[in-house]
Amino acid sequence: MADPKGFLTTPRQTPVRRPVDVRIKDWREVYARFDRGKLEGQAGRCMDCGIPFCHTGCPLGNLIPEWNDLVWRHDWHEAAERLHATNNFPEFTGRLCPAPCETACVLGINADPVTIKQVEVEIVDRAWGEGWVQPSPPVISTGKSVAVIGSGPAGLAAAQQLTRTGHEVTVYERADRPGGLLRYGIPEFKMEKRHLDRRLAQMRAEGTLFRCGVTAGVDITADQLRASHDAIVLAGGSTVSRELPVPGRELAGIHQAMEYLPLANRVTQGDLAESPITARGKNVVIIGGGDTGADCLGTTLRQGAASVTQLEIMPRPPGTRPGHQPWPTYPMIYRVSSAHEEGGDRVYSVSTQEFVGAADPGDPGPASGPASGPAGPAQVRALRLIEVELSGGRFEPVAGTEREIACELVLLAMGFTGPERGPLLTGLGVEFDQRGNVARDEAYATSVPGVFTAGDMGRGQSLIVWAIAEGRSAAAAVDRYLSGDTALPEAILPTARPLL
Ligand SMILES: Cc1cc2nc3c(=O)[nH]c(=O)nc-3n(C[C@H](O)[C@H](O)[C@H](O)COP(=O)(O)OP(=O)(O)OC[C@H]3O[C@@H](n4cnc5c(N)ncnc54)[C@H](O)[C@@H]3O)c2cc1C
Ligand code: SF4
Repeated sequence: MADPKGFLTTPRQTPVRRPVDVRIKDWREVYARFDRGKLEGQAGRCMDCGIPFCHTGCPLGNLIPEWNDLVWRHDWHEAAERLHATNNFPEFTGRLCPAPCETACVLGINADPVTIKQVEVEIVDRAWGEGWVQPSPPVISTGKSVAVIGSGPAGLAAAQQLTRTGHEVTVYERADRPGGLLRYGIPEFKMEKRHLDRRLAQMRAEGTLFRCGVTAGVDITADQLRASHDAIVLAGGSTVSRELPVPGRELAGIHQAMEYLPLANRVTQGDLAESPITARGKNVVIIGGGDTGADCLGTTLRQGAASVTQLEIMPRPPGTRPGHQPWPTYPMIYRVSSAHEEGGDRVYSVSTQEFVGAADPGDPGPASGPASGPAGPAQVRALRLIEVELSGGRFEPVAGTEREIACELVLLAMGFTGPERGPLLTGLGVEFDQRGNVARDEAYATSVPGVFTAGDMGRGQSLIVWAIAEGRSAAAAVDRYLSGDTALPEAILPTARPLL
């Protein structure tokens, strides 16, 4: 056990965020460095519970009390080994995970939980800094070949596990660089791309092949994939954005979050001098109060938006754990992300009725510029909304509460409905489940022999930690399919669900 009295003598401490007025002028990560001595004290708060409920919150089965104890004893090298035993990419989860392990921590019943996520990220950052993270190439070759479609966290985890066990793995990615949402969705201020690039270099050194700019199903057909590989892992994500079919949706200046964020990420990666969809000088409305909306918020503020309003149809959640969401569940509470701290207004219990264009009949036009010419749709200049009440599971409009918000840029961040049913999935002939995701059995196998699926493509929109857990588990299933047996760990079943 770490410090036997640590949880009594040491209060929880989390890293400070850099000052708002400084950080919104750059794209670097928001959090300041955490003092190593303080971090060891934080790890010492862990009680090494007989039943560590933190494990139940983490789909990876991270060995949390073990690395807490090792850090407290200053054995960071062994802590890094234990961390990598269950997680291929702790630098991603340590920065980006909402940490369901912390809301499940036993200490959280009547005190502040252990800062598990901070301990995780500090261990892996030190491991990289000290040169402890090295390529781990396979010692044998099985002679089998695996195609992984998609290079998000699920595809990367599956590819690394399968490469290390001796299979020849090719990752096909339609974008110009690997990483999936880690590269083109999540902004630099949440995770700098250097962490991703460093891990990709490790994977390349281990022998994983990356073929970017290749759309599976188009540039290489489903039949060609099947003919040239012994197994296929579909890890193409949940990429169909939820739509908002209200009048005026066709107006210029209304974009899906995943049209907007990739361009902003291209600017920070040096591909573009300025994004063609920029918030600079504009009044922005973001529809959707979740994490994607928060990523849009932080990005618009850094681009110099004049104002930002984030709309959410659900009521504002309570500030503390409600009674019907007891420990160790992950509660729906009011959270202030770093982006929310930086600016913008959050408006709850509202529904968008329509978008108003500058050229609408009787409309005097936008205050901030002329309408588009006849060649294109008019520019959006306002959004009309109405307040709603949740009644019997339905949102009922509240009469007389209609109002307009002026806006020249609208970002839709309302989630994703599932994978694209394009030539890859139709060409392979896989079946879909009731929710529209790629159907799979308990071994991550789709309805087509030799074809497996992991991550958001099979689970639906989820989290990085689940994608990594699925990628690792699917790799074990593929290895068993190819070799008859496997020594690879299986983190979770495809049917496992978060503690909600
Ligand atoms: C804006 C945003 C922010 C998020 N922030 C967080 C966060 O902070 N923390 C968190 O835990 N989760 C976050 N999530 C969710 C998380 O990113 C996803 O759950 C996770 O990335 C899913 O991983 P994946 O590997 O299944 O798919 P993805 O990361 O979506 O990767 C799929 C890849 O497959 C590629 N692909 C698809 N079809 C083809 C094809 N036919 N041929 C070749 N390539 C193909 C795509 O180009 C993509 O690169 C966020 C999601 C979004 C949209
Ligand atoms: S539940 Fe919390 S206190 Fe208990 S072992 Fe896990 S991290 Fe430590």
